[in-house]
Amino acid sequence: MLTGQEYKDSLKDGRKVYFQGRLVEDLGAEPGLAAPLEAIASGYDKYYSSAPDAVNPVVSAPRSAAELRDRIPELMELDLCLNVTYQSLMTLLVASARMEGAAPVYIPRIHAYVEKARREDIRIVECITDAKGNRSLSPGKQDDPDAYVRVVERRDDGVVIRGAKLHISAAAFAHDMMVMPTKTMKPGEEDYAIACAVPVNAPGVHITNTTYHPLHGDPRDYPVSSHHSIPDSMCIFDDVFVPNERVFLDGETEHAAVFAHSLGLWERLGGVSFMVQQADELVGLASLIAEANGTARVQHVREKIDEMIIHATLLRAGLEAALANAHSTPEGYFYPDDMYTNVTKYQGATQFNTMVRHLHDIAGGAVVTAPSMADFDNPTLRPFLDKYMGTGAGIDGEYRTKLFHAIRDTTADAYGGWHLVTNVQAGGGLYAQRLVTRKNYDMDRARALALKAAGLSS
Ligand SMILES: Cc1cc2nc3c(=O)[nH]c(=O)nc-3n(C[C@H](O)[C@H](O)[C@H](O)COP(=O)(O)OP(=O)(O)OC[C@H]3O[C@@H](n4cnc5c(N)ncnc54)[C@H](O)[C@@H]3O)c2cc1C
Repeated sequence: MLTGQEYKDSLKDGRKVYFQGRLVEDLGAEPGLAAPLEAIASGYDKYYSSAPDAVNPVVSAPRSAAELRDRIPELMELDLCLNVTYQSLMTLLVASARMEGAAPVYIPRIHAYVEKARREDIRIVECITDAKGNRSLSPGKQDDPDAYVRVVERRDDGVVIRGAKLHISAAAFAHDMMVMPTKTMKPGEEDYAIACAVPVNAPGVHITNTTYHPLHGDPRDYPVSSHHSIPDSMCIFDDVFVPNERVFLDGETEHAAVFAHSLGLWERLGGVSFMVQQADELVGLASLIAEANGTARVQHVREKIDEMIIHATLLRAGLEAALANAHSTPEGYFYPDDMYTNVTKYQGATQFNTMVRHLHDIAGGAVVTAPSMADFDNPTLRPFLDKYMGTGAGIDGEYRTKLFHAIRDTTADAYGGWHLVTNVQAGGGLYAQRLVTRKNYDMDRARALALKAAGLSS
């Protein structure tokens, strides 16, 4: 296994990572990238063991519903890079089981790759979402054939791929990118049915970075995002050679969707667990700021907090239902119920704005106008800030101002805006969750009940 320092050193491998148009020589020296680098390195230190055959215990599939449930607190603590590494390796294991009879050539490669990845303690990110060009056209009908990642050359020893994967979380901090098709492919789209593991430092790979990390100002004014930020990347594959042992699907269109479907099993649990925690955190912020403002007993404020509690509790109930109705793959890996997970994720995403609106309504305008923490350092200003930001009875100005900064940072600034979009789009978007819901809902039962109610059933 690697220590945090060994991990940081391992990224000095000639990778082409960019930040605001500049090629980055040292991730740790780039203000927008140093915090996530440190967070991921401390994830390495947390699980490090010097035993020669040690592997990270997190990277194993739950074998029972109880184990699945027990994973949640641990998942919530993982840095995102380790979380997606876990999801990527589990995806490969399930996909290989599903292709076993039909595409046997890939199975030993996948197993060898998973073993090596665990042994070498590398980090892997998921590269699914293509540029997609005109959304109404299939990959082969696009003006630009590279709108979806494709194979442009097949050699005896591997393939050459071209295209780009967009919005990829944490790509600059990984060792490998797990490239997989974003959707089902049809006959004639063989070049787009490509799944493979590409090293981040492979020649022809370029990684951009976009981040909500606060690049200016005092970190104390950004109490959450100055410590927790993960950039999202465009991963460009400019004719990148991938050797055969890293190719897990090439041309078998009938299996193109297996990888994305397998990923869904592992990805949603983390997404929904995070939403449940986020909803409780918003309730907590609303309660604390109402108390600090002296409005905790005001009727309309209490009602808004009640509504927030009801939403947060419904999300938790959805997560509980998904766990209580867990299923097992034929290989014996347990995953949460699709229907309950998707409904909960949909509900969390669509109600997030209402939660934030209630919080802003309760908190007041200081969410965006509270003095900076540096103002409190100024001896002339400090007594005035204590006096006018404080509300008496144990609520001092600094305490209340810190609450406002936490609310602004998480809901009304760059990080807050990122949450607004991410809740809706990440993991496939609202449309994808509606589709899963429609597919799994017991419509026959609902229709039978309706016919009975109408006196129309025999
Ligand atoms: C912060 C963040 C992190 C992410 N991390 C990752 C990651 O690590 N790896 C990864 O692979 N992806 C990642 N994603 C990508 C995410 O899965 C996509 O954003 C999502 O699938 C939507 O794709 P899109 O952004 O291209 O939007 P679009 O596909 O353009 O969707 C926009 C809207 O158009 C609709 N639409 C699009 N095409 C059609 C069509 N043919 N018919 C009907 N409606 C259509 C959609 O339903 C949606 O309402 C991340 C996204 C975000 C925001």
